Amino acid sequence: MLRHHSLPSEFAPLAMDFGEYVYHRASHRVPLLWAMHSLHHSDPAVDASTTPRHFWVEPAIKTFTIYLAVGLLFRASAPILAVYWFISIWNYVLHMNIRLSFGRMWFLLNSSQFHRVHYSAEPQHRDRNFGALFTIFDALFGTAYVPSPGEYPVTGLEDGDIPGSILEAFLAGSWLLASNRAGLTHQPRIDGICSPPQARLRMHV
Ligand SMILES: [Zn+2]
Repeated sequence: MLRHHSLPSEFAPLAMDFGEYVYHRASHRVPLLWAMHSLHHSDPAVDASTTPRHFWVEPAIKTFTIYLAVGLLFRASAPILAVYWFISIWNYVLHMNIRLSFGRMWFLLNSSQFHRVHYSAEPQHRDRNFGALFTIFDALFGTAYVPSPGEYPVTGLEDGDIPGSILEAFLAGSWLLASNRAGLTHQPRIDGICSPPQARLRMHV
């Protein structure tokens, strides 16, 4: 019966990517999520190795929210999921420190130059380019910043604090929350529902 009412599985990758976009935006708004996500942003030199640099709880949260919801709604078939997995490898390309850009066709697919803007230390790039594989959601929801040719900003967090060991990275969430309680600036200040994260950028690496 559920199969009869499920949505076309061909749209599952797009729905999955929309879920990633929503979760990513929430990660920059909700202090607890930012405490985890800021580990990803704490890399002072973004490159392909930044791709899997996520607090270990985050994949579990997404598995029981985004992936479960898409799986139930779309009844994604194994081949469709395999396609999405294959496309996800593109994530490594996105994080490479290369100036790959699609120019005027930026809205078709994310690129390493477009994605680098998200990690930028420059104020005009703050809270832009949240998209994972596709850029269409940034375009639709007004968070797209299309870099000009050659625009390649420096990256990093404002305070530049990074985990000093594997154990610190493993404990990143509680470590960052504890730092915030101590008055440090790892975490965004929420001034209102629509206010952007604050105090997470620095001007040089
Ligand atoms: Zn982010």
